Amino acid sequence: MKRRDFLSTTAITGAATLFSANSLLAATLRPKEKLGIALVGLGYYSTDLLAPALQLTEKAYLAGIVTGTPSKAETWKKKYNIPDKNIYNYQNFDQIANNPDIDVVYVVLPPSMHREFVVRAAKAGKHVFCEKPMAPSVADCEAMIKACKDNKVKLAIGYRCQHDPNIQAYMQVAKEQKFGKVKMVTSAAGYFDGRSNHWKQSKALGGGVMGDMGVYALQGARLATGEEPISVIAQASTTRPEIYKEVEETMMFMLEFPSGARASCQTSFGINMNYLQVNYEKGWLKMEPQSGYNGNRGSMSDGTIINFTIKSQQAKQMDEDCAALMAGTDLLAPGEEGLRDIRVVEAIYKSVKTGQLVKI
Ligand code: NAD
Repeated sequence: MKRRDFLSTTAITGAATLFSANSLLAATLRPKEKLGIALVGLGYYSTDLLAPALQLTEKAYLAGIVTGTPSKAETWKKKYNIPDKNIYNYQNFDQIANNPDIDVVYVVLPPSMHREFVVRAAKAGKHVFCEKPMAPSVADCEAMIKACKDNKVKLAIGYRCQHDPNIQAYMQVAKEQKFGKVKMVTSAAGYFDGRSNHWKQSKALGGGVMGDMGVYALQGARLATGEEPISVIAQASTTRPEIYKEVEETMMFMLEFPSGARASCQTSFGINMNYLQVNYEKGWLKMEPQSGYNGNRGSMSDGTIINFTIKSQQAKQMDEDCAALMAGTDLLAPGEEGLRDIRVVEAIYKSVKTGQLVKI
């Protein structure tokens, strides 16, 4: 991303900045200090986490919204002082291409809708942040990555935990081989979801616990080993078949890594659990919780405590991603990282279907 892409308004040349005495003109030529983000989909995560975090960010601000519900547009407009020209619906969304206030489109819709809106945002020439799980299939993820490449925009996945210093601390242990090689990982992420008619229970909308909480259990294993799994065997189950008719309530999966490390992972919409244990050749590490919005913490066999405090994981994530966009540097969790998880998720479903171990 070139610096000039972030200069606001249009036809005035750089020379004007140098020579104009008009400070207003000069101000319009300064690189943006904050990038304008438009949230697409104003459900729970946008409302309760992302919009509040965007009040804390230093490199990003809530510039616009895209919603299918006119009453939400009214509420958000008043609450966050969003001008009418920055409010879109799903039909007129593509006109966002002509809006210089919007630098980044953040897709916070049910997973089956991620591909469509990421591709439309890329075609509109906007950088894209996309919530996890990136999409229901590897083919979708590849199409999303290609659309962003073709349109010369960047794609980041909303993996907030990767921006959390507590998670980075255990990633570092693997990198340094502080306790030798990883032998075994146990990783769990789940919560009790009492809803009975939500997209998380719909196959067509990309529901199922594996893509939802399962990616946290999977990331625990991938990040703790620093490796990509080479095989998986999985089992799906439900204790509430009247609710989980189309998708799994619980998934258990075992991974094998190239170094020989193994991981036993569990995820569920029926059980509150959130922990990671890593057993190395010469020690251990435990995190609990391992993927919370805050309070992730842990300890190691040598007495080291992991317990960093941050004001907002989501604010840190969006600030770091926007800083990378402005500097033209690599994003911490680009589309390719989302794809790595979905490749494993696909293999997990294949293993459930066949009852066999699946090579990845
Ligand atoms: P939600 O159900 O609360 O919100 C979904 C939004 O999409 C709503 O505004 C809804 O109106 C809109 N929508 C448009 N078309 C829809 C359709 N056909 N069916 C259902 N909703 C439709 O969901 P959420 O919990 O906000 O999740 C949105 C995304 O954010 C998902 O990808 C989810 O995995 C992700 N998420 C991420 C985190 C995180 O920690 N990173 C946390 C929660 C959710």
